[in-house]
Amino acid sequence: MWDTIVQGKVWHGDVKNKTKQGDYFWVRTTVVPMLGQDNKPIQYIAIRTDITENITQQNMLEKMAHYDVLTGLPNRVLVADRFKQARSHCKRSGTKLAICFLDLDDFKPINDNYGHETGDRLLIEIANRIQSHLREGDTVSRLGGDEFLLILNDVMSFEQCKQTLERIQNAVSLPVMINHQSCQVSLSIGVTLYPDDNSDFDTLLRHADKAMYQAKLAGKHCYALFNPERDLQTIEKNQQLTEIQQALDAQQFQLYYQPKVNMVTGTVFGAEALIRWIHPDKGLIPPLDFLPIVEKTELEITIGNWVIEQALKQLDDWIKQGIKLEISVNIASHHLLGETFCADLEAILAKYPIVDSQYLQLEILETSALEDVRRVDSIIEICQKNLGVKVALDDFGTGYSSLTHLRCLGADTIKIDQSFVRDMLDDPSDSAIVEGVIGLASAFNRELIAEGVETEEHGLMLLMMGCKKVQGYGVAKPMSSEAVLSWLEDYQPNLRWLQYASRPRSILESKIDLFKLVARYWMKECLHKMDVMHRMSASMPVMNNKACPLENWINQIKQQQLFSNINLQRMEKAYEELLKIRDEVYVCYQKSEYKQLETKAEELKTVFEDMIQIADQMLEFG
Ligand code: C2E
Ligand code: MG
Ligand code: MG
Repeated sequence: MWDTIVQGKVWHGDVKNKTKQGDYFWVRTTVVPMLGQDNKPIQYIAIRTDITENITQQNMLEKMAHYDVLTGLPNRVLVADRFKQARSHCKRSGTKLAICFLDLDDFKPINDNYGHETGDRLLIEIANRIQSHLREGDTVSRLGGDEFLLILNDVMSFEQCKQTLERIQNAVSLPVMINHQSCQVSLSIGVTLYPDDNSDFDTLLRHADKAMYQAKLAGKHCYALFNPERDLQTIEKNQQLTEIQQALDAQQFQLYYQPKVNMVTGTVFGAEALIRWIHPDKGLIPPLDFLPIVEKTELEITIGNWVIEQALKQLDDWIKQGIKLEISVNIASHHLLGETFCADLEAILAKYPIVDSQYLQLEILETSALEDVRRVDSIIEICQKNLGVKVALDDFGTGYSSLTHLRCLGADTIKIDQSFVRDMLDDPSDSAIVEGVIGLASAFNRELIAEGVETEEHGLMLLMMGCKKVQGYGVAKPMSSEAVLSWLEDYQPNLRWLQYASRPRSILESKIDLFKLVARYWMKECLHKMDVMHRMSASMPVMNNKACPLENWINQIKQQQLFSNINLQRMEKAYEELLKIRDEVYVCYQKSEYKQLETKAEELKTVFEDMIQIADQMLEFG
């Protein structure tokens, strides 16, 4: 000021003064020099205006532009600026920045239950706690609501930030007393590290937010590091979900029906509804190509309810055409365990009053019971008792505690999984499982059906073991509802099944029949494989003592002492002969003596037929 006015010039400026009481005040001042003869100032005139209020207001505006009014923490604008500074620092020092997105768990109920004032006071307290756990140079900011952003400086690794994050989480989750009430919240944190994640501020914020969402999914009071790979997957998954939703809206889904038959009566009694996506470009897409994408999403429930509705529409249609078939639909576990499952089902059933609800069967994967057996059971019970629908346990035998499930779950029907059925002629452990499940069904008094019956032999074998109902390519493949009509018209029951079931068999008889069936099957297989391209190999179960169904059978009847020693010994001898010829066949392969094979094939055939004959005699003479 003096510099200016001694030169005879006017000075303008704001002056901060102090009152005697020690309060500051601002004065806008203009000092005008009055000049004497020699053009030197001889007097000064000062014009003063108190502008304290203006300045305070200005400061407040400034603060409001950069700070959160409630907590006094920097807001997003300021933190973006601080980020720029921190970024330059970390480029110079070669360290990393941790951008952490913080979100309180269960803050909303506090606001709702205790009022906004309490909510605000809690936020202030939490802001203070977070701030008190930061180092100098770190920044915490409130983004709004119950969201905070943290920028940690000089970080070497995620491991290193974990300690800080845990400290903050622990501090935040201590109870807060407000108006004699104790409130408590926890904190979920998502982190992304710059420059590992070399993005701009907004993107980093979004990434940290996504990681925070993952932390929430993992349970509350967790933290998670942003994973760019998973992010790509999420984007892709979201696209796929949108595509599936659009397909549903565009009515590109269709239910196919696979008939279920009773081999003893020859009747078709029902069909399983199986969803298909008829894609305008890609054609038919099978369910396992798209259902896993919607797993555990809302869309899974929407599709599930659509399937139930379509099935009921179909039942309604069939009734009007005089066709009496039950339909089973597959229910995903997320759908079943969803809160509205029973109510939704009831509402859909109500739309089709002429359909008797017991014609609808829900197929529940045995493995969905793994999540919560009790809840699954109570839902099953409501479906059966209140709504009158039937329930089947699908893919039975694939869960790891099938026995417990059988005891705890009141399902009407057990559906033997196709993997066991498909291989039961080849693999004695699979046939043992099938036999076991059949025994369980009868012990627990449940209906039984086998899926994956691909051949006549599968059906016969099941009949011999005591299972009458089947479904599988051996009867029919899944088909559109129009195709079902003509299929039903042309349907002829399998005569060998009918014939076999036409008279009752004793347990012994069934045992012998089973052996003969397997022996014939293997005779056919062996001769076929020796005939074409010399494909018989040591890996064929019947050629491998350890896994041979025939040897298994012989051992079983030996243990059970069902037959006389004489016949048993004859059988064992025949089996040894079979093994001997097998070894000779391998020698022929090794020496490329393919001509010899023809003789060996004849010998093999004779042995198989001997064994079948001995089995017959066992039945006749014990
Ligand atoms: P699932 O319920 O066990 O259905 C049987 C599957 O085996 C069907 O496959 C069927 O086409 C196939 N299959 C039937 N017989 C045979 C056979 O003899 N041999 C062989 N190799 N396969 C046979 P799809 O239609 O591809 O369905 C696969 C799975 O997708 C179903 O297994 C079911 O778990 C699920 N799924 C199908 N439709 C729906 C649906 O509408 N909702 C839900 N939640 N799941 C469905
Ligand atoms: Mg099924
Ligand atoms: Mg199944």
